[in-house]
Amino acid sequence: MATLSTETNTFSPVPTGLRNYEDYYLRHGTATRDPPNLMTEALHVWRARGEALDWKITESLSAIAEPAGLTTRAAYAALKDEIVRDLKAAGPVDVVLLQLHGAMVAQGCDDCEADVVAAVRVICPDATIGVALDCHCHLTEPLIATADLVVCFKEYPHDDASERAEELFELARRSQRGEVTPVMALFDCRMVSLFLTKQGPMVDFVAKMKATEKEPGVLSVSLGHGFPWADLPETGARMLVVADSDKALAEETANRLGGAFFDLRHQLVPEYPDLQAGLDRALAASSGPVVLADMSDNSGAGAPGDAVHVLRELLARGVTNVASGLYWDPMTVRQCKDAGEGADIQVRLGGKTEPASGQPLDVSGRIMRIIPGLGQHLGAGLEPLGTMVWLKMPGDIDVVVNDLRTQVYHPEAFEQLGIRLAGKRLVVVKSLFHFFGPFSVIASEVVFCATPGRVNPYTGLIPFTRRDMNFWPRVDDPFA
Ligand SMILES: [Zn+2]
Repeated sequence: MATLSTETNTFSPVPTGLRNYEDYYLRHGTATRDPPNLMTEALHVWRARGEALDWKITESLSAIAEPAGLTTRAAYAALKDEIVRDLKAAGPVDVVLLQLHGAMVAQGCDDCEADVVAAVRVICPDATIGVALDCHCHLTEPLIATADLVVCFKEYPHDDASERAEELFELARRSQRGEVTPVMALFDCRMVSLFLTKQGPMVDFVAKMKATEKEPGVLSVSLGHGFPWADLPETGARMLVVADSDKALAEETANRLGGAFFDLRHQLVPEYPDLQAGLDRALAASSGPVVLADMSDNSGAGAPGDAVHVLRELLARGVTNVASGLYWDPMTVRQCKDAGEGADIQVRLGGKTEPASGQPLDVSGRIMRIIPGLGQHLGAGLEPLGTMVWLKMPGDIDVVVNDLRTQVYHPEAFEQLGIRLAGKRLVVVKSLFHFFGPFSVIASEVVFCATPGRVNPYTGLIPFTRRDMNFWPRVDDPFA
């Protein structure tokens, strides 16, 4: 078993090298000795289930990089080779289970998941190969033709990694014993967007997928939401059905559910205000804290994470009593460490990584705290935060700067430093949706804002060159 995970924003010029995996999470066969994170939860589940059955387990690589541009050729070769080498060294195997993201693109390889599975298949042609994916994946024909089983997260925000890992383990176990013969089919929904499952009609749709899994002959149902900011022919939502021996049943069921999902499209995506309208709305609230999502600078989707468009506008408007983070700015962190806690400093904040970052902002403030090595929760898992600096600017504007690119998942990203969010008028988080659950507990209101940036949520505007433009929401009915 192994984990290899990143979500490649092919529009980002920022390379994803081996260093990016080392910075975020890289273990060579030892991930299950650490507390789980989102993409290693599955390995914990599989180890526990396998050991309970007295299976001999070989744990290989766990490599996770915060999304950015293409993984470099050298990094991909090194990561893939490690999995291949460990698998060869393990001797004959019956089951291979992989937690992959499903939207990894490397230099020279558009479909890293299918490529990894194909390499595994060459080594063990008769093994049962099961693949767990994030739902923000590209479900491609080569992948489902090569793997025996593919199962995606059903929930966004993702809180069902362990559940899906259990499901995949059980299906792989039954398949390996000859109790079931999985066959898979895809339906292309011709939709490119983001679909929250915790509210609105997606709640019922997830329930419908689960109910379908109880129908005779159906083993598993997944909706691959797709990852919008990838210029690939297959980008977009696809319905995946795994049936027992019955390809026609898999196809019919995928078509039926995919069609039902398509029919919901006008109810699935809200209108997002732009920066000016979003701030107007946030600042009109009578009580705080209002949480405003700087959606388009979500590093979790490959944005730089150092854009200062929102902060610049807040300063221009003279807004006070704000908390904002996380600004990925290792140079500023370095300068703050040099100056030390308690010092007053002037820094050139953000705006450094790529064109979507905009121009840097010259600000001054007091360094309140510097803390390395903390984490923030994403569901049950703990994600790293790097070294964080709390910079207090005039007007009670508390900015959190760090040296590890990551989005905001949890109020812990502020509160562990000592910033009390409950007393704030406005909290600005760089994230699309993952922050929503934990922050909705403390927020008087949440404003999702289509800020300027690399991952603007209006997906109809993405300048694809390699996928056709016949998709919703660019076209209202791409099946017409
Ligand atoms: Zn995802």
